Amino acid sequence: MAGAAEEREPGPAVGEQLQEQHVACQVFPERLAEGKPLRGFISSLSKDQKCQLMLQKTLETNPYVRLLLDAMKHSGCAVNKERHFSCEDCSGNVSGGFDSSSSQIVLCQNNIRNQAHMNRVVTHELIHAFDHCRAHVDWFTNVRHLACSEIRAANLSGDCSLINEIFRLHFGLKQHHQTCVRDRAILSILAVRNISREVAQKAVDEVFESCFNDHEPFGRIPHSKTDARYAHRDFQNRDRYYSNI
Ligand SMILES: [Zn+2]
Repeated sequence: MAGAAEEREPGPAVGEQLQEQHVACQVFPERLAEGKPLRGFISSLSKDQKCQLMLQKTLETNPYVRLLLDAMKHSGCAVNKERHFSCEDCSGNVSGGFDSSSSQIVLCQNNIRNQAHMNRVVTHELIHAFDHCRAHVDWFTNVRHLACSEIRAANLSGDCSLINEIFRLHFGLKQHHQTCVRDRAILSILAVRNISREVAQKAVDEVFESCFNDHEPFGRIPHSKTDARYAHRDFQNRDRYYSNI
């Protein structure tokens, strides 16, 4: 089930780049032999250190991530850097994944290119972790549950926002954000499930309306870091209000 992405033939360089843009996440990655380094110890160590440093910066400064960490804590699922994140080498061009069996976020240190990429991957995977925490998600047997979380992750993580801005400027397409969210959710499902595109599309379409409009814990679609900062402030105020009554 989880091996679909690994079984794909590696494409040419351009194809890989295109795929990498779309398949940002793999829920339940088939993890390599317990994170053993693929190459020499030294190069793996430096990759791991780089991954750890970028992760640290993301956890400390990114407003999307700060809000999600607060929300997880508020829901009784406090996130611990050492316990809940793992920098690993991944096969294919997957950037990250959420392993629900261990409640761990896998960061693909060989595919995460820079700090902005790390920010997006951690945000996307934390939305899956948040869904896992707040609801009884049946990741393995109910494809609509997976579809819902992928819709929310694509919608709220900013995965579609930059593209959205460019398209709005150039083409004025209001629907582009929704189209982007739908397409990304379908691709993410196809990366981890051995099902047809039609079945994935059907699952996404069945839950799209309600899951696209579920903005928790942001309370809005954060299209920028500024939006995310406002959302975080509102969340903290809401939190304070409820803890006082
Ligand atoms: Zn995902």
